[in-house]
Amino acid sequence: MKKILLPTSTAGSLPKPSWLAEPEKLWSAWKLQDQELTDGKLDALRLSLHEQQQAGIDIVSDGEQTRQHFVTTFIEHLSGVDFEKRETVRIRNRYDASVPSVVGDVAREKPVFVEDAKFLRSLTDQPIKWALPGPMTMIDTLYDGHYKSREKLAWEFAKILNQEARELEAAGVDIIQFDEPAFNVFFDEVNDWGVATLERALEGLKCETAVHICYGYGIKANTDWKKTLGSEWRQYEEAFPKLQQSKIDIVSLECQNSRVPMDLIELIRGKKVMVGAIDVATNQIETPEEVANTLRKALQFVDADKLYPSTNCGMAPLSREVARGKLNALSAGAEIIRKELSA
Ligand SMILES: [Zn+2]
Repeated sequence: MKKILLPTSTAGSLPKPSWLAEPEKLWSAWKLQDQELTDGKLDALRLSLHEQQQAGIDIVSDGEQTRQHFVTTFIEHLSGVDFEKRETVRIRNRYDASVPSVVGDVAREKPVFVEDAKFLRSLTDQPIKWALPGPMTMIDTLYDGHYKSREKLAWEFAKILNQEARELEAAGVDIIQFDEPAFNVFFDEVNDWGVATLERALEGLKCETAVHICYGYGIKANTDWKKTLGSEWRQYEEAFPKLQQSKIDIVSLECQNSRVPMDLIELIRGKKVMVGAIDVATNQIETPEEVANTLRKALQFVDADKLYPSTNCGMAPLSREVARGKLNALSAGAEIIRKELSA
């Protein structure tokens, strides 16, 4: 990977075109079918890449254009999970959702995103990042009537994720990211087996690896939850010491408009940090100076060569226009700091 100072990227998802799926919505239904859907998803991926490139984003992604949801779509490709047999569970202790059931041993019978990753690789020479759900976040989005143990199921998913990750690496992905918003909720489990299962998922990989830990998409259940967290959000403090000791290369965090005390980043000293400098829970587009301010604060606790400006979380639920504005602001804000550092 060519060395760029402060390489910009997004946490993962970007809005889909309205001809592919209903816009500004999570779990939005596809508008196309069969071959048209297959082709449409790849066209959307092309568009999403183009928009990232137009905005000057350095580490590009598929914008998650081929998936309906960052957790569910991966699970849909596995055997052992029955999507017809649904149960209501609490997601991250926050809101009820009707989710599929684990009914037998889980297995990945064929690759999930590998063809999509090869397609993205064929379109660009820029570094590419691919997001997968993390084991703990996967088990939290399911009803398990088979293993009847969150930990056991997490280890099974970690094995499956590792199979997928190794093939993504072989397809030319430069950074594989595991999304673990559940790390901000289940602190005992994170320390007992959460970080260990994450390390199992990245076992043997030679490419760079990242974990994304956020406070969720800008949906009401999440913004309501944030209001209950008080004036300082210290959730990261629980997982950071273990992550600092782990093999993960990059930690992706929510920092823009959040009440996370920036000095918590000191706890993962030595890791690369993807600093969220774009708030995904508002349509207000940050000014480049606002982005630069957040990056400047982060620079007190992370070395410049380890700072990766990014977004707080995915931008799937935003309009394309707002998302474009935010990508441009991210690039422009990073450029302000690059100039300051080289002055
Ligand atoms: Zn997120």
